Amino acid sequence: MPVLEKLNTERAIALEDKYGAHNYHPLPVVLSKGEGVYVWDAEGKQYFDFLSAYSAVNQGHCHPKIINALVTQAQTLTLTSRAFYNDRLGRYEEFVTKFFGFDKVLPMNTGAEAVETAIKLCRKWAYEKKGIAEQEAQIIVCENNFHGRTTTIISFSNDENARKNFGPYTAGFIKIPYDDIEALETALEQPNVAGFLVEPIQGEAGVYVPADGYLTKAKTLCESKNVLFIADEVQTGIARTGKLLAVHHEDVQPDILILGKALSGGAYPVSAVLANDAIMNVIKPGQHGSTFGGNPIAAAVAVAALEVVQDEDLAANAERLGTIFRNEMNAYIAGSNIATLVRGKGLLNAVVINDTEESDTAWNICVALMENGLLAKPTHGNIIRFAPPLVITEEQLLECTNIIKRTLKQFEK
Ligand SMILES: *Cc1c(COP(=O)(O)O)cnc(C)c1O
Repeated sequence: MPVLEKLNTERAIALEDKYGAHNYHPLPVVLSKGEGVYVWDAEGKQYFDFLSAYSAVNQGHCHPKIINALVTQAQTLTLTSRAFYNDRLGRYEEFVTKFFGFDKVLPMNTGAEAVETAIKLCRKWAYEKKGIAEQEAQIIVCENNFHGRTTTIISFSNDENARKNFGPYTAGFIKIPYDDIEALETALEQPNVAGFLVEPIQGEAGVYVPADGYLTKAKTLCESKNVLFIADEVQTGIARTGKLLAVHHEDVQPDILILGKALSGGAYPVSAVLANDAIMNVIKPGQHGSTFGGNPIAAAVAVAALEVVQDEDLAANAERLGTIFRNEMNAYIAGSNIATLVRGKGLLNAVVINDTEESDTAWNICVALMENGLLAKPTHGNIIRFAPPLVITEEQLLECTNIIKRTLKQFEK
């Protein structure tokens, strides 16, 4: 069969099933086109995308400005490796560091790679600047974290599915409960602590928003112990939660900032680690790198993607429409027994379904949502995340809350 022949849904699923590793369990929908808040399946049916590729597509599918930057650069120069300079990278580096307020950036491709980079940077800083004895550095992490899928990262996950039979695990991590400032205070008393790695809102865990003041207090505690505050904003960053960064809700500036996903608007894998010179300068030539990291396409795409966030004021839209979303859902939940609560910030929200984590109710609701023209996915069994592209309008959002309410009603007990 010619590879370019248009596939119907059944055939496309069969091919992935037979020839692809089964490391995902997708909803049975095959997407073949996207624009703004919409995606279309192989048969041409239109859906609202309420996953946004885990918040990579904050700027909307196929944003013309981002795609133009991608295509133009792709026709000019794609990859040089970092063995040579390229005429895009420096411009991007200046742009992104000024955008987020750091001295320097280290460009990578995926979120997990950027987390790995931050861990290496933190450890090296600890040995060379803080004076921790070699091999002894500890990084504090939170229970129910999600930072990616590499061997080191899953070493400090407590999701058995992500961890089991992938050992031996990387040492050097102290796990504490999330949103527990006393636990952090206690952990910081342990010797050789180099950093505290945290998601400002735990996205994959089910959109857990910490108590007001948690991030500020955590940052202050870290400062008092000369411990680096490392914010993983791969999912929460770039306007998703109603501010450019989720830490901005509390005016916290991390020592190390990790970005990915929407840094390219979903057009290309682009991630980044940002820090000031006192930290970033511990990395010397040959000590870290990536063939594709900082390539000309990535650099051009990331500038365009961030300009869209600014030009279209996506943070303000996320903030305003997020409040409307939660108000709409709260009004519904007050009179319903199928959902117990809605939580989130900006347009990163989750609805908790009134059933056990092991039940398939949330999955069945997502299948029904799909049939009703809206795509969302359960995270952790009984929680459904709702995270549309931030270019969504109020009218579209209200159409969507109606679809969600109508669908949830089908499942009321
Ligand atoms: C998605 C995600 C990652 C991993 O990003 P990949 O590009 O999938 O490697 C890391 N941290 C957080 C918070 C994420 O949501």
